[in-house]
Amino acid sequence: MQQVLAVQGMVVEDVTVESGGGKFGSVVVATVRCDYRTSGRCSKCRRPCAGYDQGAGLRRWRTIDTGLLVTYLQAAAPRVSCPEHGVQVAHVPWARPGAKTTFLLEDVVAWSAANMTVSAVVVLLRLSWRTVAAIVARVVADLLGRSDPMAGLVRIGIDEISYRKGHRYLTCVVDHDTGRLVWAAPGRNTETLGKFFTALGPERAGLLTHVTADGADWIHRVVAQQAPQAVICLDPFHVVAWAMKGLDKVRHRTLAAAGVKDRNARWAVAKNPSDLSVDQQASLDGIRRSNSALYTAYLLKEQLRNVFAVKGQRGREVLAGWLSMARSSGLPEFLRLAVTIDRYRRMIWNTLEHNLSNAKSEATNCHLRALTKRAYGYHTPEALIAMGMLTRGGLRIVLPGRA
Ligand SMILES: [Zn+2]
Repeated sequence: MQQVLAVQGMVVEDVTVESGGGKFGSVVVATVRCDYRTSGRCSKCRRPCAGYDQGAGLRRWRTIDTGLLVTYLQAAAPRVSCPEHGVQVAHVPWARPGAKTTFLLEDVVAWSAANMTVSAVVVLLRLSWRTVAAIVARVVADLLGRSDPMAGLVRIGIDEISYRKGHRYLTCVVDHDTGRLVWAAPGRNTETLGKFFTALGPERAGLLTHVTADGADWIHRVVAQQAPQAVICLDPFHVVAWAMKGLDKVRHRTLAAAGVKDRNARWAVAKNPSDLSVDQQASLDGIRRSNSALYTAYLLKEQLRNVFAVKGQRGREVLAGWLSMARSSGLPEFLRLAVTIDRYRRMIWNTLEHNLSNAKSEATNCHLRALTKRAYGYHTPEALIAMGMLTRGGLRIVLPGRA
């Protein structure tokens, strides 16, 4: 049984099957205790300490199932008096301090959550969503304590991601070279980003060469202050998204005015020309013949995308052409966008010149946005961040007993 439960420093005293009317029916209960090496230690620092009292008596920890039966370890949970940490529950070698689940179960949960949806983990392991989220947070904190995700950062992307209605945001930092999420925190302002640079430290901030961001001036300000040597590049994803927004407005405005209902129009103008279906292509042809305002907006969107496709000096020329085309378009949405783009022209030039491929970081940002769609299951932004770090933080998550 010792081997079945896979814990060193633990003595199994008794194993019984408890037949009961609980939600899991019959369960296996293994009564265990610490051996001479692990007993009487502080759960914070693991130093041997004087005993204090018997604490709350017997406690149970859920572990992995035995066959079909839900299984618990049961042990006394005495308290010790640590010279440094005061009165603490004594250390147990089978679980993290404060956890009601064993290392064995928590490692299986973390591996599963990294490899399948949380809804699947909940069913597979018969745990609540909340328990899974709490376990992921504990495992991630543990793994982060043993590695340094900020080591060797050179080119980073800073992004704001909305995680709940009512304008709640996370600020996320992604490593462009690995695509890993390296840091995230709730909030989107100078103070939030300041915390990242505090964690990074001035020496490592001095090693950053490139920072990509959206058009948020507060990001540019903090970067200019904390890493003045870094080149700030405007993220193409956001620039093209601005054009998409303008295009959407022109579509609504012109189609509504003409009383036209064209269910293909939305995708006809939004998608890349090579991805259009036959119906969408027909819709686009119709727009070209009969809706010059919308067709102009469409060309402006495509041209802006093209700026980032050709890059370099040629990209600058295409951008200059785009600006004059937008200014003479007569479309208020694109006149406004031209002002914005002109304002950030230098940062766009940086993007074109330094040819930062943000494919990896964009994949991570897409993944994080997908996670936020299910954010109802995460009761706190911290739980959501832990899940992001688990799945995109490059942490090494191994199943118990495997190399
Ligand atoms: Zn201690």
